[in-house]
Amino acid sequence: MTDDLFAALRLRVRGEILRNEPMARHTSLKVGGPADFFVTPADREDLRELMAVVTGTGTPFFVVGGGYNLLVRDRGIRGVVISLARLAELEPLGGERIRVGAGVTNRELGRFLVNEGLAGLEFLDAIPGTVGGALAMNAGAHGGATLDRVEELVTLHNGSLLQRRRDELEYGYRFLRLAAGEIIVEATFRLEAGTARKIESRIEEFRAHRAASQKVGYPNAGSFFRNPEGVAAWRLIADAGLRGVMVGGAQVSEIHANFLVNRGGATAADFLALTARIKDEVKRKTGTSLEEEVRIVGEQ
Ligand SMILES: Cc1cc2nc3c(=O)[nH]c(=O)nc-3n(C[C@H](O)[C@H](O)[C@H](O)COP(=O)(O)OP(=O)(O)OC[C@H]3O[C@@H](n4cnc5c(N)ncnc54)[C@H](O)[C@@H]3O)c2cc1C
Repeated sequence: MTDDLFAALRLRVRGEILRNEPMARHTSLKVGGPADFFVTPADREDLRELMAVVTGTGTPFFVVGGGYNLLVRDRGIRGVVISLARLAELEPLGGERIRVGAGVTNRELGRFLVNEGLAGLEFLDAIPGTVGGALAMNAGAHGGATLDRVEELVTLHNGSLLQRRRDELEYGYRFLRLAAGEIIVEATFRLEAGTARKIESRIEEFRAHRAASQKVGYPNAGSFFRNPEGVAAWRLIADAGLRGVMVGGAQVSEIHANFLVNRGGATAADFLALTARIKDEVKRKTGTSLEEEVRIVGEQ
């Protein structure tokens, strides 16, 4: 089956196709077993060709951005992992509107905003990842959230491109409802005119804030748990006495208790065991149930 699938992919897809690609290479936690196929379509048309093969063969698939919010289990991901890294268009549309491909990195977008004198998404520059990932997670910081600035999303679903205006989307804190298998291809953002100097200085301010508060020194995926209503997850974890606790190579950061770090050689199983322990102890000691913000995918 995988040889047939490989042949079909080679025949129809122009972009890069890797086989048995370790997901540890594509996640900031540096853990995760192999993807059967890791495919980077050359452009939007190529993505449609890829999806025709994938759906035509009933192959499972998963879209990855920068892998900054992902824990991939040790047996990896069956089927096709799709990277949109080459859907990287950045286009000014006039009237403070821009069109951004899902594969653009948040850093690239930040640079573009400075050059174009467009304000309103400065907070995104310091959040690691791609614009596709930021939209899918409704990433946010410093009071801003990605979807608040969206005018329209273009998604690919069951072979058709859909245009979805912001008022048609269901979204909230670190959440956007997408249909099963729906892929974000690009977004149009509506921003505000600003001066390059002011935009750049806000970006610098946010970067400096992070450098001071999140310098945990080891591979991590940012905040591991969502903040429960009205309370910071890090405080619950710290109050439960879990700072520094380790399972195998996975540790609760000593510096930021809601960051779990890979001290070297950690497996996904280590992170899962540590996660279970944190949830148990926080529940027992505070009565609060923590929920993961990091997406956990792949085979156990
Ligand atoms: C040091 C550090 C600090 C962080 N700080 C913040 C912060 O301040 N605020 C915050 O919100 N997050 C933060 N994060 C988490 C992370 O950076 C964000 O969630 C980011 O938006 C993830 O983007 P990504 O491209 O890496 O997505 P990935 O981690 O690759 O994917 C995340 C999810 O989005 C889905 N996805 C990705 N692209 C698409 C697409 N095109 N279509 C459909 N689904 C897609 C994936 O399937 C997956 O379910 C931090 C992480 C780190 C490591």
